[in-house]
Amino acid sequence: MADGKRDYYEVLGIPKGAGIDDIKRSYRALAKKHHPDLNKDNIKESEEKFKEVSEAYEVLADDQKRKLYDQYGHQGVSQTFGEQGFTWDNFTHFSDLEDMFSDFGFFSGQFDLFGRRRTDPNAPRKGDDLRYDMEISLEDSARGVDREVEVPHTVGCPECSGTGAEKGSAPKTCPRCSGTGQTRNVRSQGYSQLITIGECSACRGRGQIIERPCRNCRGSGRLARRDRISITIPAGADNGIRLRVSGGGEAGVRGGPPGNLYVVLHIRRHPRFQREGDDLLLSSELSYAQAALGGEIEVQTLDGTARVTVPAGTQTHTVLRLAGKGMPRFDRAGRGDLFVRVRVATPQGLSERQKELLREFAREGGEELGEKKGFFKRPVKK
Ligand SMILES: [Zn+2]
Ligand SMILES: [Zn+2]
Repeated sequence: MADGKRDYYEVLGIPKGAGIDDIKRSYRALAKKHHPDLNKDNIKESEEKFKEVSEAYEVLADDQKRKLYDQYGHQGVSQTFGEQGFTWDNFTHFSDLEDMFSDFGFFSGQFDLFGRRRTDPNAPRKGDDLRYDMEISLEDSARGVDREVEVPHTVGCPECSGTGAEKGSAPKTCPRCSGTGQTRNVRSQGYSQLITIGECSACRGRGQIIERPCRNCRGSGRLARRDRISITIPAGADNGIRLRVSGGGEAGVRGGPPGNLYVVLHIRRHPRFQREGDDLLLSSELSYAQAALGGEIEVQTLDGTARVTVPAGTQTHTVLRLAGKGMPRFDRAGRGDLFVRVRVATPQGLSERQKELLREFAREGGEELGEKKGFFKRPVKK
């Protein structure tokens, strides 16, 4: 943390042996110079400078910290600041800053006393986004489909235009926090002061108070509603694709735009087809004779059936390809392929004649079968 940090005396532009009055004077001048409210063209840099001089002041204005710093450098005070180094939470000279800036009216600027950008609690805010998980079949994904979904969400109250105040009235700036939505609590702790910043209890952090709430929405500015929203699912849409319905989310706050609705697609598992991107995979059985002699077999496709040629001598696990019989491509024209993985079925329940033919087949190939006739049969008593 101490790496690359400038020397605190150098930061404040004072000699090593400077007294507390010099330290104070220098800090006052530099803090004023670098407060972001006075440096609109160079906000980022001034925020950093302001923090840097405040950190130097935090150490050098405190006898104990200064001693540690003089002896060990930045290492000596890194303990007091912890892992993160100096943050405004470590700053204990809040009252010095307050004294310094009270005459300059900085409290109402774009930045707070610490040089941090203020967030306006009264600013319009975009509504939250919503997520809707939808399951569709592989067939629907292949064709593309229109679906209607019922979405429970909030919409802006039409009576008060989302302000929450009764028609003809308007929300008032909260007198307790002057519209900031925050209150400061100052506690003395030894020589320093501990400042905690909390949510204003009078307005619950909103910065505004509604004296006459709108009866239609009870002052919330929003109404709960279930809307039927129709979703067009394009052909070829795959698992996990997010479709955005602009403005289908929660109502905005204080006149902000509504959030979006995101429909996340899940494709149901198909009993026959396995999907691999734009391609489909199918398993099919071949008879022993078909596999050996070759021919044409009929296979199921997503939209019906198709015939595929099986070459003579096809082995189990051979994969046959049917070009253009897969899924439609989601982002471009055309379709993927259908791959058929074949399995050669060993014939069962043979007739005597079939057995005889197979034996002859084996003999023809010079094969010694080693059949054990009647091995599993019980000896029959005569
Ligand atoms: Zn209302
Ligand atoms: Zn308030």
